[in-house]
Amino acid sequence: EAKKNGRGRYQVFAGDMDDLLLRKRKVESELRNALNGGTGIKLVYQPIFAADGKTILGAEALIRWAHEVHGALPPAQFIAIAEERGMIGQLGKWVLHEACRFAIGTRLPWVAVNVSPLQLRDFGFAEQVASILTETGLAPERLQIEITESVLLESSNATRMALAALRQSGVGIVLDDFGTGYSSLSYLRRHAIDKLKIDRSFVRLLDDGDGSSSAIVRALIDLAVALKVEVTAEGVETEEQKVQLVGMGCHQLQGYLLSPPLETTQLLTLPGLSSGDQSGHAIAHA
Ligand code: C2E
Ligand code: MG
Ligand code: MG
Ligand code: MG
Repeated sequence: EAKKNGRGRYQVFAGDMDDLLLRKRKVESELRNALNGGTGIKLVYQPIFAADGKTILGAEALIRWAHEVHGALPPAQFIAIAEERGMIGQLGKWVLHEACRFAIGTRLPWVAVNVSPLQLRDFGFAEQVASILTETGLAPERLQIEITESVLLESSNATRMALAALRQSGVGIVLDDFGTGYSSLSYLRRHAIDKLKIDRSFVRLLDDGDGSSSAIVRALIDLAVALKVEVTAEGVETEEQKVQLVGMGCHQLQGYLLSPPLETTQLLTLPGLSSGDQSGHAIAHA
């Protein structure tokens, strides 16, 4: 049966194989119900800040599923099940629509949405995004999609064309978890990317006080600057990390130090973000 760890999270993958299969099937059917009924699934939004640590540039949408019985299931776990069971298309479409619908009612400059490699492989993906933008009325420039390195490596025709079409329309393409995938960087030349997001595992190295660790982070930032793309550091948890990253020229910061992912109502209480808020152009966070 379900085991909870210290943080009250349900572990799908604990136990033996039979248990595992049963549990996955159960999660799958419950996820299907949640998707069809539109209950229990929601998005939270984590602000992304300029290097001043105050100006909110945009926010990343992160999915949450509050399960009636098991509590909060980690997204990495149920996303994997949705991918395995052919449900990621439906789930991903819901996420895109929901994030765009939310952003249009705010003064957020942009919203970033995580997209599974399987969604991009689908030939209709770019058209799906375009029709969601039309339907919600969100300008393409206000949407960024976050993809992982595996998407670029795969580099199928469908994927390449979808990315090119999206970028052509004004949607931002962000390479998430940068540095964790593969060592070959040649794909960076072949694909037009607007932003690199340095993975949390590298940001964490900055606390080592070890010169070779910070050299890696510096190299990743320098690479982004040389490629003339924006660079965000994710998982910034300490003031020390922030100071080092900004010193190295990192443009954007995201992490618990600045703000955790927020409920929509919380996010809209930040100065300048509510659509009814006429308090000027700069979105400053006290
Ligand atoms: P990601 O896209 O790399 O998202 C960043 C993750 O780091 C989020 O975890 C976020 O809550 C967490 N985080 C942010 N700041 C900090 C920090 O300072 N310290 C630490 N320790 N963690 C921090 P979350 O929400 O659990 O999401 C995990 C992953 O699940 C995401 O990684 C993304 O790959 C995937 N995911 C989340 N929502 C979606 C979605 O709507 N669609 C798809 N396809 N994947 C999603
Ligand atoms: Mg992401
Ligand atoms: Mg990331
Ligand atoms: Mg990550």
